[in-house]
Amino acid sequence: MSALVNLVDVSKHYAGATALHSTNLSVERGKTTVLIGPSGCGKSTLLRLIIRLIEPDSGSIEFDDELITSDIIGTLRRRIGYVIQEGGLFPHLTARANVLLMARHIGKPEDKMQNRLAELCELTRFSVNLLSRYPVELSGGQRQRVGLMRALMLSPELLLLDEPLGALDPLVRASLQKDLKEIFARLQQTVLFVTHDLAEAAYFGDEIVLMNEGRIVQRGPVSDLRDQPTDPFVSEFINAQRGVTLT
Ligand code: ADP
Repeated sequence: MSALVNLVDVSKHYAGATALHSTNLSVERGKTTVLIGPSGCGKSTLLRLIIRLIEPDSGSIEFDDELITSDIIGTLRRRIGYVIQEGGLFPHLTARANVLLMARHIGKPEDKMQNRLAELCELTRFSVNLLSRYPVELSGGQRQRVGLMRALMLSPELLLLDEPLGALDPLVRASLQKDLKEIFARLQQTVLFVTHDLAEAAYFGDEIVLMNEGRIVQRGPVSDLRDQPTDPFVSEFINAQRGVTLT
């Protein structure tokens, strides 16, 4: 089966600087692909290009064998869930309203939305009693669970996660990592996950894509990066996080 997302020779420049050099990448269906690399290496840019928050300067991106053009951006955004570090929740809306926002916007029947909401609370282990709270009244971990519910509301084919656990303390982070991994397996979800943490990448990634300075340096299972580095940067990056146990 073909990949769900295909980037072909995609590049992105900002005034005078290259955020992403000409890049090819495929995101396999039903797998978790992890983008990892130092801050500023182009990971978020790559996600934003896929969901078309920004336009590539060159190259093309296919989603489910269809070329992404401006005509399909509206429908594309319903087929892709996106979670960012702080959850990106609207502060003036309750957790419930945040989760239902897009579904309401496209006119989903109320009973279907409420059923889906109950299902998502169970899936993400979020208490229904907290749904009437505003983001400021929730903990960081709870906010991320709401962000995840919102992203999953319309059963997206692709889930993009941009450092979703980066702002959490270690215990909350570990518990959410475990839950997320179970959720992805249960949904057989296609996931593109950004982190700069090697242990997290190893925990989630069926495949790891290591980036540096706007380029993909090596991609493969974490064991390949550890045992068969193709570039000195790969060993440097892995050694810099030594002490991390790679499974
Ligand atoms: P990462 O997610 O790996 O930390 P980013 O994709 O956010 O990296 O950024 C890649 C590079 O592009 C960085 O050098 C960053 O400063 C630059 N960049 C990102 N967004 C913008 C922008 N809107 N304007 C100018 N430069 C940007």
